[in-house]
Amino acid sequence: MSDCLFCKIVRREIPANVLFEDDRLFAFEDINPQAPLHALVIPKAHIATLNDVTSKDDALLGEMLRRAALLARERGYADRGFRTVFNANRDAGQTVFHIHLHLLAGRSLHWPPG
Ligand code: AMP
Ligand code: ZN
Repeated sequence: MSDCLFCKIVRREIPANVLFEDDRLFAFEDINPQAPLHALVIPKAHIATLNDVTSKDDALLGEMLRRAALLARERGYADRGFRTVFNANRDAGQTVFHIHLHLLAGRSLHWPPG
């Protein structure tokens, strides 16, 4: 999608600290990190919110979660713990309308979230 911030990051039109890329996924550091490790795992294909996901995306979503766990492991947080979050629409505070899986690790995270 031409005017989507995260599509622009995938196309390298906007810089990001890239952590992983394959033919379907892209992962990069969040610009406003909320933990020592705060990464965003996104599909290269534009999907606006979790409400727009269909059954054809099941494998893609699985890959996103598995990739987040692998990134956490690479940084040494697998045993200590980490959090993965999708925000969807207004009440959850979604600000970028290209689905992204937040990966947070490196500090004790509160529950329930605010
Ligand atoms: P959400 O509130 O779930 O939509 O999360 C959007 C996330 O994107 C926020 O954590 C922002 O800090 C992050 N973000 C916004 N712009 C950029 C950018 N140019 N590079 C990296 N992360 C960004
Ligand atoms: Zn997009």
